Amino acid sequence: MPSHRLPGRHFFANPGPTNIPDSVLRAMDRNSLDFVEADFLEIFDAARAGLQRLLFTRHEIFFYAATGHGAWEATMVNLFSPGDAVLIIGGGYFSSAWAALSKSFGIEAELLEVDWRAGANLETLAALLAADSTHRIKAVCAVHNETSTSVVLPLADIRAILDNTGHPALFLADTISSLGCFEFRMDDWGVDAVVGGSQKGLMLPAGLAFTAAGPKALAAHRQARLPRFYFDWTAMLTRRFRSFTGTVPIVPFFGMVESLRLLEAEGLENVWARHHRLGAAVRAAVRAWGAGNQGPELYCTDPSRTSDSVTTILLPEGINADAFRKVLLDRYNVSTGGGLASLSGRVFRIGHMGDLNEAMVLGTLGAVELALKACAIPHANSGLAAAIESLT
Ligand code: PLP
Repeated sequence: MPSHRLPGRHFFANPGPTNIPDSVLRAMDRNSLDFVEADFLEIFDAARAGLQRLLFTRHEIFFYAATGHGAWEATMVNLFSPGDAVLIIGGGYFSSAWAALSKSFGIEAELLEVDWRAGANLETLAALLAADSTHRIKAVCAVHNETSTSVVLPLADIRAILDNTGHPALFLADTISSLGCFEFRMDDWGVDAVVGGSQKGLMLPAGLAFTAAGPKALAAHRQARLPRFYFDWTAMLTRRFRSFTGTVPIVPFFGMVESLRLLEAEGLENVWARHHRLGAAVRAAVRAWGAGNQGPELYCTDPSRTSDSVTTILLPEGINADAFRKVLLDRYNVSTGGGLASLSGRVFRIGHMGDLNEAMVLGTLGAVELALKACAIPHANSGLAAAIESLT
């Protein structure tokens, strides 16, 4: 970090946490309030109802004072017993981490290894489920938007595979970097349990996470024997909030009511369209820089699975992506995401989710192009010009 303050706006283009709108910040500027007071109960109920609308569900939501990892842990310990087998669709750092977390609780988590640049082959998945004639697999777990690779999984198609093979496994989805950014429909897509967090499409600080659970998940919960206490859904269901064990953190709910108001005022379909427009502009820029296979390239190789909330960009062999990110930050005041796990130092990630517009994306892309020049990284054409063209 530079020791002096850089003049001008800090551009925050991380794939979560994301920029927090001013009105959400103002809404959270609250002193303490007893969480059983009517004023807070009204806010809590409004936030929960709004989140149900965002998830397109009528089902239960369990909130935790945690980040996404907490919601993963809560979901797994509430649904399974020691030795239960679950299939986690691999494809990046986050699906691997979900599998590792599950294994640490004695769940037999099988990670379906896939090409990280394209995501799971659905035929392989269908064959695996069809071969499981004893229904050993208790759940199929999918990361909707793999934030490390920017590959999106078609959840409705995965639901169809479960239905077509007549497999009774629960269907679990991680929507941490998709919810509020692009289409997700819990009930229509038959997702039994959904993991989500506050710090991406919901435009809130990190620290509030949740699981939405449908009737099949609640039935599985009643049989599940893994130890749990803070995260125990049975205990939560006895509370007024049907959530939390202990103190209810009130502040994020004031923020959530405002962030949901903003999303609904814009219109969810418009929010998705805006993310698509901005994501397409970033992809156009990367394609222009990398034309002729000489510069940066999109890490995701399947155009039907590119993410509208984040773009993972592979730099030419021999170039250290973290040194490049440091130039972006120290010289141009632009923060981007780094590569995770095996992608460390090879890629950088531009987050384009949440409270964002054309000018912010073009500002980031302009600074990236400046930094490509400053670092003498080969690139073919102006990505900035291509992004403007894409937005026109
Ligand atoms: N799942 C996905 C898809 C994520 O992007 C993240 C974090 O970025 C997580 C899980 C883990 O969430 P957290 O870092 O909030 O614990």
